[in-house]
Amino acid sequence: MIFILEIDEKIKSLEECENCRDVQIKKFSPLKDLVDFETLNGEYMRCKCGKRPLDVVMSHIMKIMIEEEIVPGNATLRRNSPVPLAGFYYSSLNPQFIAENALILLHPDFTYGVASRLIDEVPEVKCVLKGSPQSTVGQLDKDSQISHFEILEGDDTQINVMRTLLQEKIILVKRQSRHHIEVAMTTEDKLVRLHNYLNNNNVKRGTAIDCMCGLGALGIYLLKYGFEKVIFNDINPEMIEALKNNLEINGISDGYEIYNEAFEDFEFGDVDLCVIDAFPGVDIEEIVKKAEKMAENVIVI
Ligand SMILES: [Zn+2]
Repeated sequence: MIFILEIDEKIKSLEECENCRDVQIKKFSPLKDLVDFETLNGEYMRCKCGKRPLDVVMSHIMKIMIEEEIVPGNATLRRNSPVPLAGFYYSSLNPQFIAENALILLHPDFTYGVASRLIDEVPEVKCVLKGSPQSTVGQLDKDSQISHFEILEGDDTQINVMRTLLQEKIILVKRQSRHHIEVAMTTEDKLVRLHNYLNNNNVKRGTAIDCMCGLGALGIYLLKYGFEKVIFNDINPEMIEALKNNLEINGISDGYEIYNEAFEDFEFGDVDLCVIDAFPGVDIEEIVKKAEKMAENVIVI
């Protein structure tokens, strides 16, 4: 469990030290023509503060993928890299120097053998996931199974710290294997959109429903914004478990109810606001119609 007091220290530790020296490695050329694989080990280019430039870390990872033949011998960083996800993510800050135990990797062709080498040989790697960054992870609707990325090795816990337009930061802790990769809009962007909607429409700070709450970011924000009550709902029981953890981490102990239902089946009296944050690509027409019957204000994030 992480506590708010530790967060500022963690954010500070993302920054490079004065001795960190950046290295850019060409992304479009075969890596084997750019770096001597003999010297590319866990100590290669490591600063005394313990961090290494991102390109060096990704090259080290790629070297192992080439040696294990899950990518071709002429692999490039641009074409063949796994998705590197930060184990501790602050806002849109993308550090160029990576500390030990900081990266969660995702690639469709990872194997147990590769995962084991990545964890053993690349100090920055904390978890190796197998899967496609395009795939839908979680529970799409009530007729579908819950799907995950496969954890091949390591700990997939991810901490996401978001700035907000209120004074406070919001912290979300999740299991990365249970979530799709956000591409279009980050959660921080969604909070800004929600904030502006509330301000522009002068929405009463009464009762709101976070219809597909997931980790709870939007509903937690509504409580911080001053809503009297927030109803959290999600179809996926794993999200409910994570939500409870996140409420506690963000210091919220009352003013909410939690439901674990498909929104199509969800019944609740009239409220002031429904917030809908569906999976990308899901048809939400019926959901919006239902929400409009329940609430004066409906926002689709
Ligand atoms: Zn350094």
